[in-house]
Amino acid sequence: MANGSEVVHGFPHLDTVRTAITALHRRLPYDGLRAYGSSVPPADVAFAEGEDLHLGAQRVARALVRQLRLPDARMIVGFREMRHAASVELTAGPEYFIELNERFRRHRRDIGAALAHEITHVLLHRLGLEFHGLRDNEILTDTVATYLGAGWLLLDAYREDEVSSQKLGYLTPEEFGYVLAGRALVFGEDPSVWFTSPQGYDAYTEGRARALRDRRRPPLSAAGWNGRRRYAKDRRYAVDHPDPVRPGHESSYAFEHAPGGGLRVSFPCPTCHQRIRVPVRGRVRARCGLCRTVLECDT
Ligand SMILES: [Zn+2]
Ligand SMILES: [Zn+2]
Repeated sequence: MANGSEVVHGFPHLDTVRTAITALHRRLPYDGLRAYGSSVPPADVAFAEGEDLHLGAQRVARALVRQLRLPDARMIVGFREMRHAASVELTAGPEYFIELNERFRRHRRDIGAALAHEITHVLLHRLGLEFHGLRDNEILTDTVATYLGAGWLLLDAYREDEVSSQKLGYLTPEEFGYVLAGRALVFGEDPSVWFTSPQGYDAYTEGRARALRDRRRPPLSAAGWNGRRRYAKDRRYAVDHPDPVRPGHESSYAFEHAPGGGLRVSFPCPTCHQRIRVPVRGRVRARCGLCRTVLECDT
């Protein structure tokens, strides 16, 4: 895990984040994901006043191992001078050595966040889920940590004031918020009450707005008037043109002519981001084959 330098904002990694969510849904299908229905509670990952550093770090690590459903894994946490914020040795286990940067001795409240990221590396290693390239793999790790209920800690570790800023992980604060909100919508949680960092909370709010926007894109029935009007225009164009049409603007839907005639539209599921394809024939109710979300569409 890298040390936070300058804090980047916005949604520069959103494509990779969405690909990571799809990959997680594929690797842990419906019932597997349901096991992660509640997030790690704040009390389990906070240091108590006067708690021993090493014992506390082990205790928090155990809470995160439970959260991430790694029953037989044991984390051994140490501190040392290092360039990175934290690292973990990915071996066959069951013991895993996690090293945390010395500075966490003085910043105990962020130990949970660093451990959440490193222990998610262990989970992904065991699931055999990995992306090509360091950057994408780290984005996968932050996304999975958050989607499985441990990553809200990483967003809460983000703080900024006039003299200093700190952020852990590879996602921007808003992207953490986006994944966290997506998770909250799936599992019916309200993470907004867990934040100790006001900046973390603001980023959650922004990420949530973005996640809600995904659910109001055409051809979903919840789409707004502007989106619907543009969609109707794109559809008219598609009817008249034999080649598959993918509108150039930000819209994520694409039309295609079915082999037997008739028009179809494909678009990403707002929950798992896998592409869904439905016939263009007015109101259609579709169920995502991957995450089972029922989608009301007006095609
Ligand atoms: Zn990492
Ligand atoms: Zn889906």
